[in-house]
Amino acid sequence: MLHSAKQQSFSFHSELYNLIPENHLLRQIHDVVDFSFIHDLVRTSYCEYYGRPANEPELLFRLLFMQYLYNLSDERMIQEAQVNLAYKWFAGLNPEDTLPDPSQLSRFRNHRLGASQVDDVLKNIVKQCIDKGVIKSKTVIMDATHSLASSQTQRPLEILRDAAKRLVRVVVKKHPKLEKKLPSQPKLEKDQADAEKVMLHYLADLGEAVEHLLPDHEGAVSEKLHIAKQIVEDERLLANKGIMSAIDPDARFGWKSNTKSFFGYKEHIAMTEEEIITAVEVTGGSADDGKQFTKLLNQSLDTGMEISEVIGDTAYSSKDNLAVMKKEEIQPVVPLNPVVHNGGQKQEGFDYNKDADFVICPAGEHSIRKAIQGSKQTGKSRSLVFYFDVEKCKVCPLREGCFKPGAKSKTYSIRVVAEHYQEQIEFEMSETFTERIKRRPIIEHKNAELKRFHGLTRAKYRGLFRMRMQAILTAFAVNAKRMVKLINKMQPVS
Ligand code: SF4
Repeated sequence: MLHSAKQQSFSFHSELYNLIPENHLLRQIHDVVDFSFIHDLVRTSYCEYYGRPANEPELLFRLLFMQYLYNLSDERMIQEAQVNLAYKWFAGLNPEDTLPDPSQLSRFRNHRLGASQVDDVLKNIVKQCIDKGVIKSKTVIMDATHSLASSQTQRPLEILRDAAKRLVRVVVKKHPKLEKKLPSQPKLEKDQADAEKVMLHYLADLGEAVEHLLPDHEGAVSEKLHIAKQIVEDERLLANKGIMSAIDPDARFGWKSNTKSFFGYKEHIAMTEEEIITAVEVTGGSADDGKQFTKLLNQSLDTGMEISEVIGDTAYSSKDNLAVMKKEEIQPVVPLNPVVHNGGQKQEGFDYNKDADFVICPAGEHSIRKAIQGSKQTGKSRSLVFYFDVEKCKVCPLREGCFKPGAKSKTYSIRVVAEHYQEQIEFEMSETFTERIKRRPIIEHKNAELKRFHGLTRAKYRGLFRMRMQAILTAFAVNAKRMVKLINKMQPVS
């Protein structure tokens, strides 16, 4: 049950708040950012007539905000707010008031904000920036950064065992009588050659049994059942290329360069030249940056801002992205990369990774070398040929239709057709392009800020949904800080 937003009533002890300096960051944020929008945003996630009175959404949202601003855990946030005058004042409490339990923060984040459109949180602060005249430019800069997963990678057998153990545990905890009805775990010999396949079958049987016994499953059982299904259906699991953790099945391996990899997530970000983040999209670490372009553009346009220019690296120069920009009358300031802009996929599932300069196949293997074929002078009939390791192809579970038995090589070619991009090639050689592309690195500073000061280096939680929440709330906190700075700059010097 949700009460309407209440007015803060100050107690006798509120005098203590006079000790908070006028220029304290939280005072400045309180003055420029309107947090009251949260009440309407989460209203539908509360029962209108029943249940205990809910803690004010604005109180919980302000606590969440400080959590991401100061990079604190749920418990630490509540502990700190109990003794820190500025935090308590910002939350709208009196010095003698008690704080909600830390579990309320995660409940609010996952069930209230999660149930509503969490994207609207970011959209709202961008709109506030537009209304206050903070955003003037019509440019968005796009880039991606990454966060390490909060769990370790596991081998396929460990993943299968772990997922089965977790599913059995939640089912038996809730329904102890079902323990005997579940299929029993197979006994495996040490170094059994088909151990993974045996466990894979067991996990599939276990999932089916749980669905049959508990057709109306919910909560933790549904969550673990969903993970078990994801694992069973992942064709790349046994090749150790798909799901790599039963605890965090959404995290994926990604590449920072052709020698450096990471396990976790990617945050795809768009921001204005004033350094206000307008869109955030989160994917597993292996995702192609260029394929997030349309989502980032639409999210940014949804805030009401006008966009006439997009600045980004070569990842965004695909044929499809350039076509979208042309249709929207947006100038692409993105350097062309022959592999990316000609890279309409010949075969489904092959992705070019521009950071590592290799192609990743549907089985998750990456090409081991690249060769250029054709005339180097004209560039008109050239092809880039990526070679895969045939020893891996010979035993690949996805080789049918991809690798001919007995073939000496497996290649993936991309033809370079420069003449299709003449207009963009000419623009790339202009002074305007040279000047405008210099603005691109400012987004790298923003990425560094998100990671260094606000905890985006590592996922605080597990799963794509929670990672997305972390990334959006972090972007909101960083935008609020930036908004204060820009509004201060706009004030006439007295
Ligand atoms: S056959 Fe080779 S190239 Fe094709 S999916 Fe398998 S490993 Fe990748």
